[in-house]
This record gives sequence, C-alpha cells and structure tokens, in this order.
Amino acid sequence: MENRLRLLFSLQQIDSNLDEVQDLKGDLPHIVADLEQRLHTKTTKKKTLEETVQKSLVARDAADVEILTLKELIEKYKTQQFQVKTNRQYDALARESDTAQDKIQKLEREIETMEGKATLAKADAESLLPEIEELKAELDEKQAELQLVNKEHEEEELRLRHQREKIVVRLDKADVRQYERIRKAKAGKAVVPVRRNACGGCFNRVPPQTVLELRKNSKILICEHCGRVMVSDEIVESIGSAQ
Ligand SMILES: [Zn+2]
Repeated sequence: MENRLRLLFSLQQIDSNLDEVQDLKGDLPHIVADLEQRLHTKTTKKKTLEETVQKSLVARDAADVEILTLKELIEKYKTQQFQVKTNRQYDALARESDTAQDKIQKLEREIETMEGKATLAKADAESLLPEIEELKAELDEKQAELQLVNKEHEEEELRLRHQREKIVVRLDKADVRQYERIRKAKAGKAVVPVRRNACGGCFNRVPPQTVLELRKNSKILICEHCGRVMVSDEIVESIGSAQ
C-alpha cells in the first residue's frame, strides 16, 4: 500500500511539473488553435461565396443559350407565317411566338437576378481577402513562436512523459482513473501532503484520527472537505525532490 501511495504522489509531482511546462507556454497553444479556427471559418465562407458566383454564372450562361434558341424559334415562326394559308394557322404561330417572347422576358429578368447575385457574392468574397491574409500572417507568427517554446521544453516534457508512463503501468487502472477524476475536478491537484494536520489542498484541518491513520501509510485517505487523496510526510519525503 505504501508503494501505491508513493506512486500516486510521484504521479502527482510529474503532472504538476508538466502543468508548469504548459504554464510556461502561456496562452500560445490556445491562441494558435483560436487563429486556426477563425481562419478556417473565413476561408470556408469565402469558398462558399465563390461557389455562389460560379453557380450563378453557369445558370446565367444557360439562360443566355436558351434565349438564343427561343429567338431562333421566333424567327422560324415569322418565316412560317408568310407560308401559311389560313388565318387560324397564322394566329396559332403568332401565339407560339408570343409565348416564346414571354419566356425570353422571364429569362432576361432571371439573368439580371443571377448577375446581381454573382456580383454581390464576388464583392463579399473579395472583401474577406484582407482579413484572411491578416489571420494567416498572425497564425504564421504565433505558430513560429509556439514551435520555439515547444522546442525549448521538448526534452523536459519527453523525460516527464516517460517517467509518467513508467508509473502509470505500475498502478491499478482504478487508482489512475480515480486520480484523473480528482485531478480534473480539483485544478490539477489530486494528491496532497498533510502538513501541520491540515490538508495540503484545501488547508482544512484533518481530524486527529485520520492523521494517525495517515501515518500508517496503509490506505488511501480522502480529505473530507475537498475530496483529494492525502499522503503523509513520510511519503512526501521518501520521494523528495528526486523527480
Ligand atoms: Zn482538503
């Protein structure tokens, strides 16, 4: 059991050191992630607008072709009108011609709408460009900074992670789970020493009976106030600053 407590306390020390390394990196990882997200949003928006331009122009071209076909048809009706023998035939062709003319007008209005849409989308897409360029430049800069900081702490992080792995494999999975749960809930501190009969996490008094129990190093004792695992000085000293 003593070993289990020792391992848990060692794990806590390593994680605290890793947390410190993260603190040294400051907001950089967060800033980089945020910039990446913003850049992605803007780029996607620009792409969608460009697709709108493309689609509108394709539709406009199709309408253009249709108008040409209809105009040819109207010409054909006119020629036929000279050749027909009855008024009824003549009127029928005139009606066909009118229908085609109506269609042309409708298509011309549609073309106007589509061109307007394309122009707007194009302007919107272009207006995003300066923002995108700015975000890209900022991201490049921050990424370079982060890379530098990462490199600075790379060795230490690797060493700590390696130590951590060696400890985790020696612990019960249930213990590790409990540890992680408390650590997450308690701002990174799951295992704390008891000093002057007070919990090292919340600084509340530890009952004398618990202090006695603690000295036996025989079981996992949880602080009744903050829920952290408490360890005795003996455990703390046995590990000391060896980490
Ligand atoms: Zn406590």
